[in-house]
Amino acid sequence: MKKHPLAKLDQRHLWHPFTQMRDWLKNEPLVIQRGKGAILWDQHDREYIDANSSIWTNLHGHNHPKINAAIRRQLDRVAHTSALGLANEPAALLGQALVKLANRRTGLAKGQPRLTKVFYSDDGSTAVEVALKLAFEFARRTGRARNPRFLSVDGAYHGDTVGAVSAGQIDLFHKTYSGMLFKTDKVMSPYCYRCPFNKANPERDDARNARKCNFECADKVEERFAVRKKHGSNYAAMIVEPGLQGPAGMIAQPKGWLERVAQVTRGHGSQLIADEVMTGLGRASNRLFTSHDAAVQPDYLCLAKGLSGGYLPMASTLTTQNVFDAFLGDYSEFKTFFHGHSYTGNQLGSAASLASVGLLQTKATTTNRKKLANNLKSESKRLWALPEVGDIRQAGCVLAVELVRNWQNREPFTLAEQAGIRVCNALAKRGVLTRPIGNVIVIMPPFCTTQRHVKKIFSALHDSIEEVLTRNM
Ligand code: PMP
Repeated sequence: MKKHPLAKLDQRHLWHPFTQMRDWLKNEPLVIQRGKGAILWDQHDREYIDANSSIWTNLHGHNHPKINAAIRRQLDRVAHTSALGLANEPAALLGQALVKLANRRTGLAKGQPRLTKVFYSDDGSTAVEVALKLAFEFARRTGRARNPRFLSVDGAYHGDTVGAVSAGQIDLFHKTYSGMLFKTDKVMSPYCYRCPFNKANPERDDARNARKCNFECADKVEERFAVRKKHGSNYAAMIVEPGLQGPAGMIAQPKGWLERVAQVTRGHGSQLIADEVMTGLGRASNRLFTSHDAAVQPDYLCLAKGLSGGYLPMASTLTTQNVFDAFLGDYSEFKTFFHGHSYTGNQLGSAASLASVGLLQTKATTTNRKKLANNLKSESKRLWALPEVGDIRQAGCVLAVELVRNWQNREPFTLAEQAGIRVCNALAKRGVLTRPIGNVIVIMPPFCTTQRHVKKIFSALHDSIEEVLTRNM
């Protein structure tokens, strides 16, 4: 088939993120022309299920009438004015909505902070960058640490700006830049499937997994703080992806881990940054925020991706009155938070986000989320029969399948074998789009995805794994 002119243009001029461009140039890329709900259509009018919600952003489906209308309404008034020196309606209303949402009756333990202030930015990386800078400065101003450092989790990914990369712990992405980063310490990830202490899932207490989990991984956090204390300092904050470590390979945390980590962090007078860029807003838990599943309210709550429903770059960092107050003073004291972006508080993004957050609170969405989580669970069961399926893990509306060479000893494929990439290419040929994380296949479609489509996703995934790995390795 002749290459579509747009595919040719793309290949002539564009450089794609996280992509080996030599491979990209080999075949005609998909050019997405339109979408509706969970479905996308390419340049040849072929239909696909958007099984990773366009890199984890889309919550309610594409071309949603309510979000479309909200953007159009705002577009007829004004698209963008600066938040430097000016306020605007949708940004103010969204701030109110987010504060309300983040402090909702959540069963939070007593003494948890209230999140009362919202700082806008453009994407997940900048939402994290804002939290890091605020926490760093807060620790110094309150005398909690003279040279504050950050503690993050092995496999952490918090974005691609330099601060976020410094807090990241994926060698493949981050090591190249080590010379330009600030020092961050790391603790082991609560990766139950590859736990060096035992391979039990602490949530499952069946006889085969009888070796009890003692949360050795959480003890490591305590150890880190103790070492820091011995050096006469402290961490400004510990940064975590609550509930589910996404880019690390969708590592679902055992119940109890986050509570322990929050307790240790706060016990040492440090703060907690929750990167809910991927997990938040109903994606990875029954509640709207995964921190709240553990009855934990962070000091900084970073939101992006799904904030605008997957429509526009829009992010926010919520924090406490305490942090806000530490930046108040006479102008000449220069306590101002000197940070911002040209599009901070953008009207179109705020209008889309307001509509998306509104939809999130409707009964229809709550029902859809529950149905989708149940469908993912039941339809994925058939994959256990495949010898290359080592683990299937789920948190809310996110499901991940870890592919292994040998399920009996959990031996991984090497990255160079591209097991995940090849399975996803085979999936695309069957009308299902997603991207792997190494050997992990991520299934995270929009909330409106029907049972029929979930069935199709897993039937295609089953056949793709069989075709690529069982028959062809
Ligand atoms: N944090 C997490 C947990 C993420 O998954 C991502 C993106 N995958 C980011 C931060 C960075 O977000 P963005 O790509 O919007 O900058």
